[in-house]
Amino acid sequence: MTPSPVWHPFTQHRLEAPMKRIVATEGAYLFDEDGNRFFDAISSWWVITHGHRHPHIMAAIREATGAYDQIIFAEFTHEPAETLAGDLLEFTPTGLQHVFYSDSGSTAVEVAIKMALGTFYNRSVARDRIVVMQHGYHGDTIGTMSAGERGVFNTPFEPLLFGVDRLPFPAPGHEQETLDAFEAICRAGRAAAILIEPLALGAGGMKFYGRAVLCALKEIASHHGCLFIADEVMTGWGRTGSCFACEQAGVTPDILCTSKGLTGGALPLAATLCTAEIFEAHLSCDRRKTFFHSSSFTANAIACSAAVANLQIWRDEPVKKRLGELASLHAKHLRQFENDERFANVRQCGTIAALDLAVPSGGYLAEVGPRLRRLFRERGLLLRPLGNVIYLMPPYCASPFDIATAYGAIDEVASIVLKETAS
Ligand SMILES: *Cc1c(COP(=O)(O)O)cnc(C)c1O
Repeated sequence: MTPSPVWHPFTQHRLEAPMKRIVATEGAYLFDEDGNRFFDAISSWWVITHGHRHPHIMAAIREATGAYDQIIFAEFTHEPAETLAGDLLEFTPTGLQHVFYSDSGSTAVEVAIKMALGTFYNRSVARDRIVVMQHGYHGDTIGTMSAGERGVFNTPFEPLLFGVDRLPFPAPGHEQETLDAFEAICRAGRAAAILIEPLALGAGGMKFYGRAVLCALKEIASHHGCLFIADEVMTGWGRTGSCFACEQAGVTPDILCTSKGLTGGALPLAATLCTAEIFEAHLSCDRRKTFFHSSSFTANAIACSAAVANLQIWRDEPVKKRLGELASLHAKHLRQFENDERFANVRQCGTIAALDLAVPSGGYLAEVGPRLRRLFRERGLLLRPLGNVIYLMPPYCASPFDIATAYGAIDEVASIVLKETAS
């Protein structure tokens, strides 16, 4: 067989076996060309919320294709984008009033950063620093990499990355250090915005922190006129147990980024929501104050239709109940690992569960990562540990049996790998 010309993301092709083709998806499962079934325990990189190919979302896409494809989103608008914008204001924290569309989580964050800087620029206020959190992840473009944790992923691009101010991660018992650091940065007077993942840091290693910290960060930001950007690209649409993580802290951010689960994961789409204040800072008879940003596929009408259908599912189906049941299942299964010396930091945030395999060298490039992946795959389970951090972020249709099987595999695979690393 001739090798495929496809270059896959986050893949070292020299070390990976040729990939199997997935020929179908359904609910919580992927089916490959050999007839194998995999439980998609990471929701196909955190995008699938209700399950693969939810019938209402698929029907909405089919229906939309009868009328639309991509429509230029300057000079014209369309029904799916208008309806979705109104719906989004209903689902997101009260106080957000405008919706700017783009097509991925990275672009949603880039837009947020540009909105924040544009707001101060248009007001002729000299504020140009972005404050972020240690271990944060906001995407893989140059701008979002600048805001994210530096490491092996972005070392080659380091010369192009802009400087940001970093807060230490609010580890349990060290929350005050994070708040004090933020307060000090704000006092320096240059902070335009704080950009953080609320409650749960995803790609940085599934690190969770409490709602009190989130709430306190927002208060400090408000007090100093620093804009608060919530990157809810991963946390949005139920992952942390509520529709958006900010809800749990009663926080309305000035800017909120959403993507991944916005269409239920079916199609790429993103939205950056903001307050009237930020929109109005760009209103002027001076055209130079226009918000100059666009993606070619801004507000794709088919993707917007899928998102409208997703929000309807949130209204019609007991999604919140499913989130609660999934969270209880995690809690039940995690308990067995709590005093297990094979694991450390057994933790949970809503529908996300994580635990660190107690191997000597951690970090993303930990040798155990690829080994774990293969062993899980052999057991019909799609899991991609972040180094030695094993985590589950399943779609909400996952059955108690799926979840129990996944934890059983973690139990078994952990022992195999620890025995290998010991010998
Ligand atoms: C995935 C992710 C992004 C980037 O989204 P893409 O669609 O992959 O560009 C941004 N922020 C967070 C918190 C994410 O988890």
